[in-house]
Amino acid sequence: MNSVPGFAENDPPDISDEGTWRRACALRNAYWGRAVFLRGIIEFSNHCRQNCLYCGLRRENAGLARYRLAPGSILEAAADIAALGIGTVVLQSGEDPHYDGPALAEIVSAVKRRFGLAVTLSVGERDFADYALWREAGADRYLLKMETFDERLHARLRPGCSPAARLRAFEHLAALEYETGTGLIAGLPGESPELADQDMAELARLRADMVSISPFTPHPDTPLGAHPACPPETALHRMALARIAAPAAHIPVTSALGLHGDALRIRGLEVGDVLMPSLTPAKVRAAYAVYPGKNASVATPLERAAAMKTLLLGQGFSLPSGPGEAWRKKEARCP
Ligand code: SAH
Ligand code: SF4
Repeated sequence: MNSVPGFAENDPPDISDEGTWRRACALRNAYWGRAVFLRGIIEFSNHCRQNCLYCGLRRENAGLARYRLAPGSILEAAADIAALGIGTVVLQSGEDPHYDGPALAEIVSAVKRRFGLAVTLSVGERDFADYALWREAGADRYLLKMETFDERLHARLRPGCSPAARLRAFEHLAALEYETGTGLIAGLPGESPELADQDMAELARLRADMVSISPFTPHPDTPLGAHPACPPETALHRMALARIAAPAAHIPVTSALGLHGDALRIRGLEVGDVLMPSLTPAKVRAAYAVYPGKNASVATPLERAAAMKTLLLGQGFSLPSGPGEAWRKKEARCP
């Protein structure tokens, strides 16, 4: 698979940083041209039963004002996404059992019925039965980041969780024929260069349709609040490595990287090809604070998304309408 002119599967990797970057840019252009795929994200609940040490939504963060969006508000935000000409809606939340299988299935099918958008879910680890129900309701994709594959680090940073359980969930999603997304947090406290290399190798083995790398961004109200942030250059370098390891994958410029400004976002898009503007309603969006500064803009979600489109077009990117499906699906349709 993945036959793109000029890139034999066994080309030796270039290990210099500049060479890595250039090669990743060339692969990005070979697979996706200048396209940037927009996915409108609706962060519909910040309640979470998990206690990840890095995340501001962790259950022990008592200082966070918690919210849940009613189905009607979720559909209003989805209408905004459709009106912007964006083809995919991402429904993301903490691990919130309040939205049980049938409740979320109802929302998914309403979004499909009314707007015909591609639907990505990102609501954490759930039973196979829930994943199956949502797939039946029309969900197309699922984003479940591994964060790190390292057993000890994963267990320490995500108490009560394990890479094995997360991998099992990922395999369930793949078996249900979701388009799959996964990823890593770069620069986590406790990461070593060897561990980072190992994580990248494992990431490539999963052959996910989307691969996301976010820079660790400390949140002061978490146990990791005093740890240094991952430098944006490190995240960019890892994105380039991910492009080389999984050349056909969609790779987003994450909002954590976007915190460093538009210039860095544009640089990220030299190797990445996806942006996920938040269309979470203004009244709650600042409370989806996985890290500080996320969703802090004073502009309305619609204004921000429109400004993002203008910026990208000005930089010579194209903004295809439609769902922006996985490479393997695109290839299957037009071999
Ligand atoms: N609750 C679901 C949905 C995504 S949570 C889940 O955990 O799968 C949002 C994402 O934000 C996580 O996947 C994680 O990768 C990222 N994140 C959380 N805290 C972060 C931090 N401090 N720095 C960078 N990324 C972080
Ligand atoms: Fe919950 Fe996801 Fe944050 Fe972990 S990363 S605390 S599962 S929202």
